Amino acid sequence: MASATKELKLCVVGSGPAGVYCAQQVEKKVEKATAGAGDPKVVVKTDVIDRRPAPGGLARYGVAPDHAPSVSAVLDTVDAFLHRRQTTRFFGNVQVKTKDAGDVSLDDLRRRYDAVVLANGADRPNELGIQNERELTGRGVFSARQVVAAYCGDPMERLDYSSRVGAFPGPAAEGATDVVVVGAGNVALDVARMLLTPPDALERDTEASRSFLDLVQSPNGPLSKVERVHLVARRGPRSAAFAPRELREILQKRSDQIEAVVTAPERPTSGEGGARFADPFADVPGFKPASRAQKRVFKLLRDHHGGGSEVAKGGRRQLIFHFLHRPVGFEVGEGGELLGLRAAPMAERDDGNGGVVPVPLPGGPGEILVPCQIAIVAASQATIALDGLPSGSESLEGRGGSAVALEREPGKAPVYMCGWANRGARGIIGASMVDADEVSGALVAEYLGGGCERRPSSGEDLAEALRERGVDYVDADGWRRIRVEEERRGRSAGRGGAEKIASAEEMVAIARASP
Ligand SMILES: Cc1cc2nc3c(=O)[nH]c(=O)nc-3n(C[C@H](O)[C@H](O)[C@H](O)COP(=O)(O)OP(=O)(O)OC[C@H]3O[C@@H](n4cnc5c(N)ncnc54)[C@H](O)[C@@H]3O)c2cc1C
Repeated sequence: MASATKELKLCVVGSGPAGVYCAQQVEKKVEKATAGAGDPKVVVKTDVIDRRPAPGGLARYGVAPDHAPSVSAVLDTVDAFLHRRQTTRFFGNVQVKTKDAGDVSLDDLRRRYDAVVLANGADRPNELGIQNERELTGRGVFSARQVVAAYCGDPMERLDYSSRVGAFPGPAAEGATDVVVVGAGNVALDVARMLLTPPDALERDTEASRSFLDLVQSPNGPLSKVERVHLVARRGPRSAAFAPRELREILQKRSDQIEAVVTAPERPTSGEGGARFADPFADVPGFKPASRAQKRVFKLLRDHHGGGSEVAKGGRRQLIFHFLHRPVGFEVGEGGELLGLRAAPMAERDDGNGGVVPVPLPGGPGEILVPCQIAIVAASQATIALDGLPSGSESLEGRGGSAVALEREPGKAPVYMCGWANRGARGIIGASMVDADEVSGALVAEYLGGGCERRPSSGEDLAEALRERGVDYVDADGWRRIRVEEERRGRSAGRGGAEKIASAEEMVAIARASP
């Protein structure tokens, strides 16, 4: 005879791909593990909390608008999961406490649920430590995170471009012609492509935010006069971290709009250890790329090297790759405005294991100045630590390689980490899903292994507690109302897609309106 039905009360912090996929997998795995006639019946009830009013994480607020169709299935899955009334609830616009702010503490969640999964991503951009980077941040120098947030219409981040840059007289206030992007990965490429794509195409074909369109499109828009984007990368073409497809798009498919110029310092012909320095674009016997993708990226860059011109032809705008240039410092004008990025040329030396490492160029030319009025730093991102987690637990190394951040204590649920919060800010959505699969497996094994009698004291329901604290949360129906309104605005503005609402207050007000 089957035993009585139990509930596994699961709380997932973060409605990005990792959080939602992990919740889905917990349910599937529990179902599979308890399918036998004599097994205890377990129903998984999931609450998904997100600090943003809209679900989807970086699938909605990171993926570049012109690439959004490639992840629309992920967003559909998120939406479908959150709308299953019997078993899932969405609490948008609810922040789990960090040192700066929050509506509900992790400790509180641990007392209400059987298990807590932190899939809160990695939203905090790191600095690269370039000279004057901090002084100029927000008034000439921006993080890629800020620019991405701007074009994705992220309500959590404002790129207050006009009031910050506009306060400093000089070319930036009048409209930047040259923008430096520091980085050699896909985020750097996304940002460069978004700045070089004709704004009319962005407006017609994508959900790029209205405020970003104003920056790049209106005649006085401070990013409307961009002629060149300089992508400055310490690495060489052999170790660039682009995805082949993204690079091919720039070098080949979009060549009618964007002229790509691929450069690197000349190979040193003399100097200490000269023979061991590889020509950055030549085939080197014995060179082993780290992956097939890297091999393809190198081939694309090598084949493109030497093309392009000093001045872009045919009304196109330029993307100039400056490989093997270590960013040293931002040059500041007398009025405090950004004049350019100083960068030191590097060489590539074989590392003795079939790979290459960038090293200072011996006896080569000195630093170069890449002129720009705006610079965007695409550095790595880190997880914003939640209150109540031991220090170090925001990295997998700090947790000794385990997805468990806090073991179960009497009356308190265990805490798991998942996705970018678990493994760091790298990898595409598919990689986060693989992690979610592993984490859900560990969670289910632990839950079922310990039996179903471990329910912590739950107290009042989260919805009630939030209402009592006056937190205006957005539920799944509220989110649907927001999306319907975004789609309506897109249609009435004659756009191909929806027009995202980038104000949290406005989103909450729409969510609250009666259906
Ligand atoms: C600029 C950029 C472009 C990208 N483009 C692509 C692409 O084209 N294709 C692709 O496959 N992958 C892309 N990726 C990678 C992809 O976005 C990630 O692999 C994936 O989103 C990570 O999923 P996640 O769920 O771990 O984190 P996230 O997607 O970041 O989700 C984390 C969620 O947690 C919420 N949260 C954070 N803190 C709190 C808190 N204190 N309380 C409550 N909620 C909180 C956040 O609001 C967010 O919704 C891109 C990434 C970036 C940065």
